[in-house]
Formats: sequence, C-alpha cells, structure tokens
Amino acid sequence: MENKKEMRTWLDDLNLSHPLVIAGPCSAETEEQVLKIAHELKGTDVSYFRAGIWKPRTRPGMFEGVGALGLKWLQKVKEETGMKICTEVANAAHVKLALEHDVDMLWIGARSTVSPFIMQEIADALEGTDKPVLVKNPVNPDLSLWLGGIERIYKSGVKNIGAIHRGFSTYEKTKYRNIPEWQLAIEFQNRFPDIPLINDPSHITGNRDMIFDVSQTALDLNFDGLMIETHYDPENAWSDAAQQVTPSSLIEIMKDLKIRKESDTEEEYNRTLNNLRTQIDVIDNQIIELLGKRMKSADGIGLLKKQKNVSVLQSKRWNEILGKMVWEGEQRGLSEEFILKMFKAIHQESINHQEKIIKG
Ligand code: PEP
Ligand code: MN
Repeated sequence: MENKKEMRTWLDDLNLSHPLVIAGPCSAETEEQVLKIAHELKGTDVSYFRAGIWKPRTRPGMFEGVGALGLKWLQKVKEETGMKICTEVANAAHVKLALEHDVDMLWIGARSTVSPFIMQEIADALEGTDKPVLVKNPVNPDLSLWLGGIERIYKSGVKNIGAIHRGFSTYEKTKYRNIPEWQLAIEFQNRFPDIPLINDPSHITGNRDMIFDVSQTALDLNFDGLMIETHYDPENAWSDAAQQVTPSSLIEIMKDLKIRKESDTEEEYNRTLNNLRTQIDVIDNQIIELLGKRMKSADGIGLLKKQKNVSVLQSKRWNEILGKMVWEGEQRGLSEEFILKMFKAIHQESINHQEKIIKG
C-alpha cells in the first residue's frame, strides 16, 4: 500500500464540495420501493445509491435479499436518476454478477471482513477492476484484520479503495447497536491518511434518532463521507427498520451537519482544533464509562466484604495498585503527583461506594 495517493483519486474525481454521501435502503425489497427511494434522493447531495441485494442476516429464516434480480433495479436507478449505484458483495459469484451489471462501487460487509478466506476469494474475483471497493471494519475491533482485508484487495490490483467504519459488536448492551470505538477509526486515519474513510452511522447506532449526532462526530473527526440507510417507509422496512431514515429526514440531516472545509488558514486552524477537541470528548466519555465500570466492580467487592465481615480498607492491596499506576503513568509521560492525586480520588470514591453497601 505504498502508492497511497493513487487510492484517493476516485473520491477526488467526484469533485465534491462536501463529504461523500451514500444513501438508499438497507435492502432492495421491490422494484417500486427501490425506484421510489431513488427518485426522492435524486438531485440531492447523494452521489451513490446503496441497496443490499444479498443480505447477511444473523439468523436463518429472515429476509436474505432479492438476489441478482435487484441488480436490474439498481441499473434502472442509474438510468432514471443519474446517481451511481453500489451494493454489498460477499463472495466471488456476487462480485461477478455485480461487475457484469456495471455496479459503480462495491462494498464488503463487516461479517465478510472477519474471514481471510472470504476476503481472498473476493479479492481474486475483483482482480484489476477500476471500480471503487469499500471495506467495512470487521465486527470485532481488530485494526490489523481490517487492514489485512484491505491489503488483500489492494494486492489484487484494485487501486480505488476506501474503508467504512460501521462500529463493533459487544456482548454487553450499550446505547449503540455497534459501538464506534472512535479511537480505532482515528488510528486508522493516522496510519492511512490517504484511504478515504466513510462513516456508517446507521449500523453504529441501530437507531435513527442518533444518526445526526454520530454523523456530526464523524465529520468533526475528518471522515470523508457518510453511508446512511434511507427508506420511504422505514418502519415497515424488511431489514434494519429501526435505523433507516426517510429521504426527507436525510435531506434535513445533510442540511444541518456542519462541515468544516479546509480553505484559509483560519478555517484550517479551527478544523484542526475541532478535530482534537472531538478526540478529547470521545476519550472523556470513555474515561467516565470506565470509571463507572470500575465502581460497579468495587460494589461487588463491597458485597463480598459485607458477607465475610472484612474491613473496607486493604492497605497492602492499595499500595500495590498505587506503585503500579505511578510506574504505568511514568511510561506515558504522566507525573507522579498527578497519578497519586487521581488515584486517591478514585480510591476514595470506591471506598464511599463500598461503605454505602456495607452500611446499607
Ligand atoms: C449493510 O450495510 O446493510 C450491512 C449489512 O452492513 P454491515 O456489514 O455493516 O453489518
Ligand atoms: Mn442494514
């Protein structure tokens, strides 16, 4: 992936004055549904119309897509609206059919990126194509696996590459369907600044009410574009009903999003400042979330101590923690004074929690 500049051209060639927008339904359901949505998106900032034809569903027996038939409907979208078309491919047969139907861009889904065998099969089938290929992050937060997938595609001669950040699975329920782990996307950008990175707030949130916020965070972190699932009747969609927005909501969202362009130095300054501030906001949220988790573990210990009638303060254990944290802090350029202050405050909160449990 040495000649990275080459990768960027497909996005530059679109000559957009705003981030790339890809929109359309999660799944192509019927010809009428596909065309109705496409016509409502015609003439907006949407450059690529998306629709899933082959759907990777978590459990069998759900709607698994209309199959190759849907490619004809996508071709009609292109003819009638002028939008470019894109769809997900998950094996060599899909790639062959998509290329035969002149699909303008292909993406590889999160459940495919996890499998090196599938990625290799897809890469071989794509050999030498000049269509842009976007690789979604794998379902697990593994940057190497994501990069490895991209590398396989690149090695088979595909020069127009992009990546889609769609969040990561967790066992624990969170407010997201797939947690964004923004620092992983930031790391991706730092390592490969020339690979266009698109955000997919639909699969991150699983909830249309959160699409705007996640999209704004992505733009503040300098993402190159957004992929947003759009349906004229989201509630009755055959897949991902809770996360799709109507074309008119999408237009509102695009209007309200603040895009920070690079033009003069003042703007460049603001953009960089804003980017760094957003990174800090993301990290601060993580700190709070982790502290909350830490206190939950402390509560558990409080319960145990109550049952066994053991005292809250365990000095030996506490001094071990402090020593270790001072050392860890030093490795990261944090002063001993700061570490001691911070951990004493955390420890005090932990004691308060435990005492409440023991007395309660
Ligand atoms: C999709 O884009 O509809 C899709 C199936 O996404 P993901 O691979 O991110 O789950
Ligand atoms: Mn979907």
